[in-house]
Amino acid sequence: MFEKILIANRGDVALRIHRACREMGIKTVAVHSTADAGAMHVRLADESVCIGPPPARDSYLNIPAILSAATITGADAIHPGVGFLSENADFAEIIAEHGLTFIGPKPEHIRLMGDKIAARRTAAELGLPCVPGSEAEVTSLDEAAAVADGIGYPVLIKAAAGGGGRGMKIARGPENLAEAVTMARTEAQAAFGSGAVYIERYLSGPRHIELQMIGDSHGTVVHLGERDCSLQRRHQKVLEETPSPALNDHERTRIGERAVAAMRACGYESLGTIEFLYENGEFYFIEMNTRLQVEHPITEMVTGIDLVCEQIRVASGNRLGFTQDQLTFSGHSIECRINAEDPHRFTPSPGLVTAYHAPGGLGVRVDSALYAGYEVPAQYDSLVAKLVVHGSNRNECLLRLRRALDEFVIENIATTVPLHQKLTQAPGFINGEYDIHWLEHVFLGSDG
Ligand code: ADP
Repeated sequence: MFEKILIANRGDVALRIHRACREMGIKTVAVHSTADAGAMHVRLADESVCIGPPPARDSYLNIPAILSAATITGADAIHPGVGFLSENADFAEIIAEHGLTFIGPKPEHIRLMGDKIAARRTAAELGLPCVPGSEAEVTSLDEAAAVADGIGYPVLIKAAAGGGGRGMKIARGPENLAEAVTMARTEAQAAFGSGAVYIERYLSGPRHIELQMIGDSHGTVVHLGERDCSLQRRHQKVLEETPSPALNDHERTRIGERAVAAMRACGYESLGTIEFLYENGEFYFIEMNTRLQVEHPITEMVTGIDLVCEQIRVASGNRLGFTQDQLTFSGHSIECRINAEDPHRFTPSPGLVTAYHAPGGLGVRVDSALYAGYEVPAQYDSLVAKLVVHGSNRNECLLRLRRALDEFVIENIATTVPLHQKLTQAPGFINGEYDIHWLEHVFLGSDG
């Protein structure tokens, strides 16, 4: 087992990993930008190293600085967390070249799934159904028109290197196609440095259902059930729950078995999430995230498995601590993503937190690096807390969630707590019948 892990991340994710390490008796090294000198992940770690100025490209994305920090402190492994370098195959390779362990999948799997066109092809080869669409990059308008005619409008133009819901444009009919392709390409080039795009049929009312997978280096692969992440704004998740109100046990078992077979066939190791759209009883693969997910706590709440501990254990060459048959799923869990944003206009709201009180009590977990006196920096993602609630069934979970939201105090900055308070009272959420468009088009009443 590792003795010391460098955590190449910040905020609640860095804290989450630190907590797992501490419970496993592993020392931690925090890295931080100058903007985060007083941050909670820095305060709690055994050691800390400043790796650069506030912009992420100069600090949390600065590979030489992170590697130097690992060498100086004698860390034997690096956990990349979520975002930043977590899906950077070059980073994983360089770490290995320096004799350290990257806590994540093999670089070839990161690279493969990072190219969404290659990921679609691989998923299909592994027996996972994909959204109907182009088999390769679409390089000309004529090609785009031929693909779109073949699958039928509306279609979605997507960036091969896409992430975070960017580089995605809808063409409702042939008359919008040229504009959608050009816009998607331009946005993708600017955001990801690659203008490569592909086309999928735009599904009119699917749910986003993803499966949590984990594999070890001894050939064992297990799935830990699904998460329903259909509540989205601008293709970004707002609230997640498990189990999905839309699935029955038969469907759950069927897709779980297919996903396990696919991951076993490709020798997948570490944590990974296979994302599907689900419509009219059918699953369609859209992408795979080769890392820990923001919404992983809801899976932990219903399985009792510490996913980060397991991820660290398998990275050090140990076998998974459980088999598929030993897993039991209990009750219901919901996560609310609390962002430092105006709850109506969604504009960022960084600044000083003058008072902070997190909810508690049975079945309530808050993953956050906030404290009273903390200044939320303007440079990073606006997610400042995850409120995660567990109940013996969905109704109990919902009642507990409302109670917990009412207890949350974060003063002097705007947060999305009021949005979640309203959302958890909305009939469309309470009855569980929402799809990926519902939050934006019905609940928020806009076209996004
Ligand atoms: P990203 O990597 O940017 O997150 P994804 O491919 O995971 O992109 O898609 C993000 C979200 O966009 C999905 O959860 C879904 O809401 C929407 N989406 C993606 N593909 C389609 C599709 N073919 N039809 C309808 N909505 C889609």
